[in-house]
Amino acid sequence: MAEFPKKKNAKMTVADAGNLSLSAAGTDRDAYRSFIENLPVMFYAVAPEAPHTPIYISPMFEQFGYPISDWMTQPDIWDRVIHAEDRETVLNNTREAILNGESIDFEYRVICKNGNIVWVRDRSCFIKDKQGNKLCWQGVILNITERHQAEKSLHNTLSLFTSTFESTADGIVVMSLDQQIVTANQKFIEMWGVSEEIMESKDGNLLIKLVTEQAKNSEDFRRQLRETYADEHGTFTELLELKDGRVFERYSQPQYLEGTPVGRVACFRDITERTRAEERLRHYALHDTLTDLPNRVSFMDHLRLAVERTADNAHARFAVLFLDLDRFKVINDSLGHAVGDKLLIAIAERLNACVRPGDVVARLGGDEFTILLNRSGDTTEVARVAERLQTRISEPFKIDNYEVFTTASIGIVNSSNVIRNAEDFLRDADAAMYRAKESGKARYEIFDREMHVRNMNLLQVETDLRHAVERKQFEVLYQPIVNLETGAIREFEALIRWRHPVHGLVNPNEFINVAEETGLIIPIGKWIIEESCRQVVRWQSKVADPLSVSVNLSAKQLMHPNLTAQVKDVLLETGLTPSQLKLEVTETNVMEHAERALSVLTSLNELGISLSTDDFGTGYSSLSYLQRFPFDRLKIDRSFIDKMDGNDKGTAIVKTILMLGENLGIEVVAEGIETQEQLDMLRALGCRLGQGYLFSRPVAAKAVEKLLRDAIEPFDFNHKHHIHPTSPVIEVADVQ
Ligand code: C2E
Ligand code: MG
Ligand code: MG
Repeated sequence: MAEFPKKKNAKMTVADAGNLSLSAAGTDRDAYRSFIENLPVMFYAVAPEAPHTPIYISPMFEQFGYPISDWMTQPDIWDRVIHAEDRETVLNNTREAILNGESIDFEYRVICKNGNIVWVRDRSCFIKDKQGNKLCWQGVILNITERHQAEKSLHNTLSLFTSTFESTADGIVVMSLDQQIVTANQKFIEMWGVSEEIMESKDGNLLIKLVTEQAKNSEDFRRQLRETYADEHGTFTELLELKDGRVFERYSQPQYLEGTPVGRVACFRDITERTRAEERLRHYALHDTLTDLPNRVSFMDHLRLAVERTADNAHARFAVLFLDLDRFKVINDSLGHAVGDKLLIAIAERLNACVRPGDVVARLGGDEFTILLNRSGDTTEVARVAERLQTRISEPFKIDNYEVFTTASIGIVNSSNVIRNAEDFLRDADAAMYRAKESGKARYEIFDREMHVRNMNLLQVETDLRHAVERKQFEVLYQPIVNLETGAIREFEALIRWRHPVHGLVNPNEFINVAEETGLIIPIGKWIIEESCRQVVRWQSKVADPLSVSVNLSAKQLMHPNLTAQVKDVLLETGLTPSQLKLEVTETNVMEHAERALSVLTSLNELGISLSTDDFGTGYSSLSYLQRFPFDRLKIDRSFIDKMDGNDKGTAIVKTILMLGENLGIEVVAEGIETQEQLDMLRALGCRLGQGYLFSRPVAAKAVEKLLRDAIEPFDFNHKHHIHPTSPVIEVADVQ
């Protein structure tokens, strides 16, 4: 910059400047001066060719903290107050403008005396006379710091907004109330595949059309949009499903300008993944993983709904089918779990194919399936569905090159006027299924009231029985088996009793079945064998003649893999000779599991234990049966002895059985001898052993002990003065 020429008069006045710039106006100079000096801007005028020669500097210069007199001592002061970073540019550009006779309009920073930085706008140009001669270089310097700061903060805000707007995972669009696109972020454009044309056109209706077309339910979405735009102040959150499977959450809120809504901001968040994960979780919670059928929880929900529907509507009907495969365990055990699993899947498919769309086929677990027939017809119709299911299931399945056959037992409960909750329906269907199994499998049973009562009792018995096992509430009674030739008593049948805390002494007929069904018969049966053996050993210590005990075995015990080992252990522990223990099994139990029974009975027989077939004549009564199995004796069922009284036919049967026994070398025992006539006839027919109330009811061990200790031979048939059998020595009272 050129040097300011030294001026004699250091005091500059507005008069000098006025000479140059204000005289043209022809106004009063003082007025101008005061006018200019009162303006919040700094005026300056310098010599046209010598910028460092000030002609006029207005007092506003002092706003920067420097005294105006500095211009006298430092004519280049302005050059130095310019911020070092801006200085070179400002001075160069100014110089250039002056050289070219152009004006300037710069913004730059100056450093105040106190070190503050101030932004200024510097506008200057040449003032010329009428002839075009440059009179001075005159300018205004405006303090624009505040504006600059405002701009800076606005800029910051804007950049913050832009980066946030673009970096968010949500697609955002802003539309004016007259449906013009104000702005949209890149994410929004990508999410919806918005074309450049649409964005450039700013046409909100085109955008709405594009979005609506992609919505799964366009009509719904259009309605939502209408509602949104109708409520200028409302905020909305909605779910939006797209035709391509994506799921968006739409959040929309008004855009306000000074408190007035001017448009709407809509944010779209892609929640497809989250929704899918949630769906998956919900699915797992309600479905069986193997077959993908609804599980118990889900089935019960459906069932509860069905129950509610019938409560509201007297005509609504439904039915619950409880289906259990009959031979699944065998298939699983013999062909392996993989085949078992495939079979379950195939069954699930067949079941589903047999029902109507509104029905529910569920898998409760294992090989148990339940079916809810909604809007079922009457009982006959439901029975027809059950038949159809059974037919379909009994058709062969082709699995891994195996042809697999199975059948199903089905229990049915029809909704009726009886008020029952969902759990009761399921329980009753289960009970009916159980009945179907009991009655021979591969069939269905419809639940009825009688079953309900029976079931309730069973349930109670089962609970009580479990306690009974824990609390050892069982006792053994012994019924003498009498030698019908001599009247001697050397053996007894052990018969269990349950001393129930409420019902007193309970007979086995009332609980053995439940013990069987629940498997409780295993510990109970084991206990009775041990107890009876111990008892005989005790008695034997007092009597010379060998005593023996007959213990009844149930089917479950017979099938139990440890039976032989258990019996062997008991014999070892108690020291009882094997021949002193007799085990009784019914024909039915043996025939139902013939192969297994044969091997178990053979091994028991090999131990030296005598085996009896109980209740002979009530089951298969087959000859081959007697020959095939290693029985030492058969016990004629009480029903035949009963029929003997003066009844030729009854007597003939007993006679045949006795002959049969003789031929096969098997001892025969007559059960349930109650009268003298029966006894006489049996003796006449050559029956050598018998038991019955005529001699004694089953009695407690100590009553037997008394009998043995006193060496009483109550039934001395060979002596004239024998005690009459009709007045048994062992009183019933002894039982308790
Ligand atoms: P069971 O083995 O045929 O036993 C004979 C049943 O006939 C006994 O009934 C006995 O009290 C009864 N009885 C004996 N003489 C007469 C008579 O003259 N008239 C009549 N009306 N009945 C007579 P209880 O003790 O009630 O046993 C019933 C059935 O329970 C037994 O029939 C047996 O099958 C089963 N049982 C008894 N104890 C056990 C046991 O410890 N284990 C197993 N598994 N079953 C048992
Ligand atoms: Mg018996
Ligand atoms: Mg019997």
